[in-house]
Amino acid sequence: MSKVVSEPGNKPPGAPGTMSLQEEGLDNTAPIFPSERYKALSAKHLPEIPQLQKLPADDRFAMQVVASVLPFRSNRYVIDNLIDWDRVPDDPVYQITFPQQGMLESVDFSHMADLMRRDASAKEIKEGAHEIREKLNPHPAGQRELNIPQVGNETIHGLQHKYRETVLFFPSQGQTCHAYCTFCFRWAQFVGDNTLKIVAKEADGLHDYLAAHPDVTDLLVTGGDPMIMKTAVFAHYLEPLVEDPRLAHVQDIRIGTKSLTFWPYRFVGDDDADDMLRLLEKIVKAGKHVAIMAHFNHWQELQTNVVREAIRRLHDAGAVIRCQAPLLRHINDSSDVWIRMWEEEVRLGMIPYYMFVERDTGARNYFEVPLEEACRIFQNSYKYVSGLARTVRGPSMSATPGKVEVQDVQEIAGEKVFVLRFLQGRNPDWVGRPFFAAYDPEVTWFDGLRPAFGQEKFFYTDDFNAMVQGRWPTTKH
Ligand SMILES: *Cc1c(COP(=O)(O)O)cnc(C)c1O
Ligand code: SF4
Repeated sequence: MSKVVSEPGNKPPGAPGTMSLQEEGLDNTAPIFPSERYKALSAKHLPEIPQLQKLPADDRFAMQVVASVLPFRSNRYVIDNLIDWDRVPDDPVYQITFPQQGMLESVDFSHMADLMRRDASAKEIKEGAHEIREKLNPHPAGQRELNIPQVGNETIHGLQHKYRETVLFFPSQGQTCHAYCTFCFRWAQFVGDNTLKIVAKEADGLHDYLAAHPDVTDLLVTGGDPMIMKTAVFAHYLEPLVEDPRLAHVQDIRIGTKSLTFWPYRFVGDDDADDMLRLLEKIVKAGKHVAIMAHFNHWQELQTNVVREAIRRLHDAGAVIRCQAPLLRHINDSSDVWIRMWEEEVRLGMIPYYMFVERDTGARNYFEVPLEEACRIFQNSYKYVSGLARTVRGPSMSATPGKVEVQDVQEIAGEKVFVLRFLQGRNPDWVGRPFFAAYDPEVTWFDGLRPAFGQEKFFYTDDFNAMVQGRWPTTKH
């Protein structure tokens, strides 16, 4: 056994620096090793979840209605340990987990509720749900057309290459999650092909593409949640990065995951948890950087012994954990939440990285926060934390031209404007340059922004249009 799989330390809940969980109303009695294996609960299990049976009948009916359209998937760890049931329905993890009436437009809700009340056939309900989903499903930020890589004339599926130094990889076996977030709509794209043949083909495509692109320093494995994959499958993709000399330039391996929240046993006690830690350790020992890009929406996700043990073990393996999350109404739309979350992340040795503005969501109206308010929440959090937590940037929008940060709302030359800058650009020359959009208190997303000072276009507009028309890249590096 390597040292990374040292026995988990059972820190008492009252250890120095830990909040009293009793005070929080949270139950932190989750055993460090699970008493049962991972089991997904789906919409058909809703009537069997004991905590829900205490809710008013109307609320339970509404939940069934919404769950016929939006995804529901959870597990006992989340339900028994991360939710303060005395605070339901306002509890943030409850809002992340369970479908709520407000997540559908009222016409859509009434339509589905009618179908269910009159016991419509399964086929009718399915069709009704399908129609609503079609309306909700966004086609994110030109990802489809603009970022699909090719080797020779062949398109490589499962890859996206938008920013010079980073390639995104979506393994087909990683296209689901240990639980679903109510605000996420990526599940609509969760259509994995699970055969081993596909794994081998994908791995070859990935490695050939990386070998052909010496500018790429970072590989970002994403999903769904890639940590849903067995370690053996993961190894298929990652081991060649340390073994194949053609891939020496890929120095940083990032893994985007919400498993620390939804199933920390992935790193503590699951059959192949130790294997996963050994795989990460092997990559680190070979001289590469392993970054777990953890998704935490609320400090409540950081309170159990098992998540803290999982974090400790990842650190022992030599991985760095960076934290990112979208800002969402009903879940984390207050500075208090972000201050405490960033502080606790730092205390647990993790690094705050991004606050995102959310767009990729079906129930958009329910979760959205205007850019001005997002900016205020960010600033009112950022200014109260130590410099160690000010590694975080945001609020950031992943838009077609790049990642755009809302820096401030200011009055300049008599005009109220949003001050913006690129954190990432399709053209790296755009990064870091401030630019200005006309103030609008209601705008919630990048495509609602117009240039300030009576200008017709932003500084990057011509360059960007040229890229879209296929003359990309305009700048050689
Ligand atoms: C965010 C993102 C990255 C990584 O950007 P960093 O600023 O390096 O974290 C890479 N590719 C895409 C498509 C992204 O949205
Ligand atoms: S936000 Fe991430 S963890 Fe949540 S459902 Fe979407 S892909 Fe899965």
